[in-house]
Amino acid sequence: MSAALIDGKAFAAGLRAKVAEQAATFEQAAERKAGLAVVLVGEDPASQVYVASKAKQTVECGMASFEHRLPEDTAQDVLLALIDALNADPAVDGILVQLPLPKHLDEQAVVTRISPDKDVDGLTPISTGRLALGQPGLVPCTPLGSLMLLKDRLGDLSGLDAVVIGRSILVGKPMAQLLLAENCTVTVAHSRTRDLPEVVRRADIVVAAVGRPEMVRGDWIKPGATVIDVGINRLPPEEGKAKGKLVGDVATAEVLEVAGAVTPVPGGVGPMTIAVLLRNALVAAHRNAGVALADGAL
Ligand code: NAP
Repeated sequence: MSAALIDGKAFAAGLRAKVAEQAATFEQAAERKAGLAVVLVGEDPASQVYVASKAKQTVECGMASFEHRLPEDTAQDVLLALIDALNADPAVDGILVQLPLPKHLDEQAVVTRISPDKDVDGLTPISTGRLALGQPGLVPCTPLGSLMLLKDRLGDLSGLDAVVIGRSILVGKPMAQLLLAENCTVTVAHSRTRDLPEVVRRADIVVAAVGRPEMVRGDWIKPGATVIDVGINRLPPEEGKAKGKLVGDVATAEVLEVAGAVTPVPGGVGPMTIAVLLRNALVAAHRNAGVALADGAL
């Protein structure tokens, strides 16, 4: 049996098109554009690329982008004052602080300062609590994007066995909550899990968010299972090459022989993350401006 590759790039493009359509409708209703502010502290090259890409896609979707680039040695109180100003700014619907922050800054305190109504990354304690309680709120982008791909592929997830490998605040934990809310039977595995291959073999849905190149092997997978590979790992460069290959947490070629469907790396979950960020910003804009958004529109 050979599995299907789930085309996250195409799905993300479709989601961005819907965001663009709804952003135009929002602008007419609210008489302003929806706005997303991105805060970058320091010179980390990967973060600079992400921030530039987020700003470009925000504008392409017809929303306003506010970029704040602060020097590496920015003091905690200066950063907190910027977040307070963005919280109070009616043109800003979403605030994203690009992580990781330089070591001298208290990441948790900075994230916690973001208004939950503008928390497009879904990482504040209030957003996390709302997700656990099943209340409307903003959900972290990567797990929500992964869930969208799963529902697009499988429809109703009710009663399915799901194994999430990884328990980070950013991916594993919110992913488990989302799957539980879809009535899956959820197991969260981590570095202390005993006999991980055996645990994974039970799963109809496997979400790998570990950060270990190609850890999930073909013989761990139940025939026909759907496998979401969140991992992004760069291998050491081959001789004569400047950059190593990007691989996920799943041995894709092996898993394709057994699974029903697998997300590739790159081109699977990765493109969904920014598309969902734009979606979250527009959902926040509707709530903040008191403009209705049709159920299922985004
Ligand atoms: P993280 O915070 O480092 O968490 C990794 C998790 O994996 C931890 O819960 C850890 O368990 C678990 N783990 C580590 N080794 C393990 C093992 N041998 N067996 C089972 N579990 C193990 O990472 P993250 O932020 O969740 O990110 C995970 C991966 O996703 C990374 O490759 C990251 O680059 C990628 N990512 C991609 C996107 C995207 O847009 N596609 C977004 C975010 C992250 P313990 O808790 O016991 O230590």
